[in-house]
Amino acid sequence: MEIVILAVIIALVAVGLISGLVVSSRKKKQLPPSAPSSTPTITPPAEPHVGEEAEAPRDEARRTIEEAGTPVGEAPVVIEPEVPALEVPEPTAGRLVRLRTRLARSQNSLGKGLLTLLSRDNLDEDTWEEIEDTLLTADVGVAPTQELVERLRERVRILGTRTPDGLRALLREELVALLGPDLDRAVRTEGGAETPGVVMVVGVNGTGKTTTTGKLARVLVADGRSVVLGAADTFRAAAADQLQTWGERVGARTVRGPEGGDPASIAFDAVKEGIAEGADVVLIDTAGRLHTKTGLMDELGKVKRVVEKHGPLDEILLVLDATTGQNGLVQARVFAEVVDITGIVLTKLDGTAKGGIVIAVQRELGVPVKLIGLGEGPDDLAPFEPEAFVDALIGD
Ligand code: GDP
Repeated sequence: MEIVILAVIIALVAVGLISGLVVSSRKKKQLPPSAPSSTPTITPPAEPHVGEEAEAPRDEARRTIEEAGTPVGEAPVVIEPEVPALEVPEPTAGRLVRLRTRLARSQNSLGKGLLTLLSRDNLDEDTWEEIEDTLLTADVGVAPTQELVERLRERVRILGTRTPDGLRALLREELVALLGPDLDRAVRTEGGAETPGVVMVVGVNGTGKTTTTGKLARVLVADGRSVVLGAADTFRAAAADQLQTWGERVGARTVRGPEGGDPASIAFDAVKEGIAEGADVVLIDTAGRLHTKTGLMDELGKVKRVVEKHGPLDEILLVLDATTGQNGLVQARVFAEVVDITGIVLTKLDGTAKGGIVIAVQRELGVPVKLIGLGEGPDDLAPFEPEAFVDALIGD
């Protein structure tokens, strides 16, 4: 009798346990999809899939909503999440290699042009002059051109290199040497113990400054950093909206003020927001009016001083449009006199045959090119790597 009672109790407990499990697993399924948060969240960078568009999070959200909310037998109602799905920017490693074909114009006139000339049977005085002209036309600059031609002449003479492969290797070596392969090209974003890294982006309006700031935010997000944007270009009407859109795509908040407002106070607030959020990096887009040098100096100087009340700036990046050639160099000079440029971003290298500007501008400012823009796409900003750049120019 006791055994029978015991068996009944065990059976009841077992049934209870099993039904409990079923209920709890159902409960889990019925949990509503997590409500979209009002603060932007940052999707960690996914596995590197070159060129992949980030539709996955949106689909996943939709599936969860469908699973949770559809009563049996009814057609599924698709509810779009209120917050647009965040994009997953492409990883930064290898971007230049991916974008190398964008340098096609520079490749044809500079790289291929030089190789063709060097391969002539008779490397006479006229040919060397043509080589010099090719370099000058590609905006390499007078001094670097003369140095390069001298080095090439000497090495061809001493080594007697005449084979196409030998000449290509020689040219590659000399071009890479001219680009300063050992320069530190990392974009500094370490910041202080309690403060985020602060990067100020300067340049003349129209060079691609705002676009570059947006692309740079993606580069940082791709590298796992959280970003706050400061829309301190209050001069150009659409700049703040443009920057905000860039930020929203990757979950970076944008601090902005009224059109024509004080850029310095926006920059100050952006860093304050960055500190409050515990963000890793604050990127500040500035206005670049070359009205007068004093005007520019006053404006950028003030932004810098005010931002530095929070702590030192990590980088001041100068954005230059590669298609503007000598004019770009003049701009570079003016900005370098106004603020301490720590790195150069050369944009629109996809639209010019004058890739040599990379060499000229580094020489001019004594500051490394850190990033290059190779298109209008969101991930068309690549860390600059001398070897990969030269390989793209002359083919490997
Ligand atoms: P800002 O006035 O300096 O802030 O200029 P914007 O960021 O608005 O850019 C001006 C134009 O240049 C836009 O149409 C951009 O898409 C374009 N642009 C920026 N960077 C690049 C690049 O690397 N390649 C190309 N082809 N266009 C670019």
